[in-house]
Amino acid sequence: MALPSSHHHHVALVSSPGMGHIIPILQLAKRLLTHQKINIRKATLFTVSFNSSSSSSKAEKDLLQSAIDDQSLSIDIIHLPPIHISNHNDVTIETKIAITMHEAPKLFATAISNMEFKPTMIITDYFLSQTLPLVKNMMKVPMYLFVPTNAWVVALGFHTPKLDKEVEGEYQSHGDSPILIPGCKAVHPSDLFQMMEDRTHRLYHEYLLMCEALPLADGIFVNTLEELEPKTFEALRSGKITKVPIFPIGPVIRETNNNNKQNNRINDVVNWLDKQEEESVIYVSLGSGYSMSYEQIKEMALGLEQSGKKFVWSLRPPSTKAGNNDHYLTAGEDAETNKKGHSSAQEETLTPESKNGETNSVTKSQESSDYFPEEFYRIQRNGIVLMDWAPQLEILSHPSIGGFVSHCGWNSIMESVSCGVPIICWPLFAEQMMNASMLEDEEEVGIAIRLNVSMSTKNVASEEIGKAMMKIMDKGDIEGCAIRKRVKKLKHIAEKAWSHDHGSSYFALSRIIDSNGAS
Ligand code: UDP
Repeated sequence: MALPSSHHHHVALVSSPGMGHIIPILQLAKRLLTHQKINIRKATLFTVSFNSSSSSSKAEKDLLQSAIDDQSLSIDIIHLPPIHISNHNDVTIETKIAITMHEAPKLFATAISNMEFKPTMIITDYFLSQTLPLVKNMMKVPMYLFVPTNAWVVALGFHTPKLDKEVEGEYQSHGDSPILIPGCKAVHPSDLFQMMEDRTHRLYHEYLLMCEALPLADGIFVNTLEELEPKTFEALRSGKITKVPIFPIGPVIRETNNNNKQNNRINDVVNWLDKQEEESVIYVSLGSGYSMSYEQIKEMALGLEQSGKKFVWSLRPPSTKAGNNDHYLTAGEDAETNKKGHSSAQEETLTPESKNGETNSVTKSQESSDYFPEEFYRIQRNGIVLMDWAPQLEILSHPSIGGFVSHCGWNSIMESVSCGVPIICWPLFAEQMMNASMLEDEEEVGIAIRLNVSMSTKNVASEEIGKAMMKIMDKGDIEGCAIRKRVKKLKHIAEKAWSHDHGSSYFALSRIIDSNGAS
């Protein structure tokens, strides 16, 4: 089913929680509203909330408010009724995600059935695909999925119900035997999507239900580029994995905000970057919700020191000595709520210039040294540490940035590709190991160096970090040179993808009108 092109349409979108979902789906809503070939007049974005967090994060609130305030767009934001999740420490992030995948589709389906002005089309986040059978039974509107990750993960999703029937025991209990997806790069068991790691866990059960619902979609829009994944798109279009039309519409990333002189955070960082040499600074961020462990901070600091590179390091303040992903669903939480256990004198931006001044320096208190090793304080003269929400896109797009140490969240990858910045992969969770394996593979993409991350501690030795930084940034390194060349080429492709003339992603999104033959 597709949209009749003659009508004015109203699209209802639903996002999974977490900034890595909300940022791109909001951007997609904007792209739909401004697309000249699609007559969508209004977008309503539904977001998920929880009883366990008192409010959504500051970064999330600011982002959603800026969309509401934008007079040129008609976007409504509706928070779905909170999902009840116990605050108990033994409720893991995996269980929270599983509950969300189960409950949010029901809340969304009820919400749209109660809307006075019904939407004429639905777009759900890929991970909330259990929405599809619910809506199908309720109303006749075209239903699309938006995938905030890559097409390879989608191919695995379509193939999972088959794997579930054919593979005995855990997927990772068959030695090094790769997991095969017809026509696609095979998945090494140690890189497998985290939702498939434990087949007895509720998360796997919800993931399987999600995968079984995928064929109900009228089309799937993926935040990727055809040129990043040509082999996977060929396989997806061959009909061997699915018959659902799948379109690459990346990069769907937010716009940079360099003109906003009110934003001191952006100004501080950009002013400092302006003073650095071209491609001389490395940007470090392991994602919106991950708090690094004491040991990881130590190795990273030593690696930065050994590389001799200047840096901008975006770091979630740790709340324990061990690293954790607990803040993933509420990423960007207000500084105060996230800074438990830290000296209140500790500021959010730490610049080398202010180091000897009184205002912005890290206060090395008894408390803070429980979380930050000596090495962390030692390296500060060489860069900036951002403890709060970092202006990641403004940083990556700055000419002084020459490399990105990333956890390989897919939004970060698309942002890095769009800015032509080579990547050092430090994958941690979710599909990040698959992303890293695709990015480092010269036959697939070849724009990254992958670090050897310990499976148990999620840590990397400092020597390896330092060497990777030098390889990726030093002009004389042959491998680094080839990686930089490839990422610059992709940057040009990404720049053209959204051109209103012949842009591949701009055109692909217009298929929402005619993907099934309607005109
Ligand atoms: N981000 C940001 N500032 C931060 C941390 C993250 O702007 O301090 C943005 C980043 O640019 C990206 C998103 O948050 O758009 C994170 O999504 P990603 O898929 O990279 O990783 P996740 O955090 O979801 O694991």
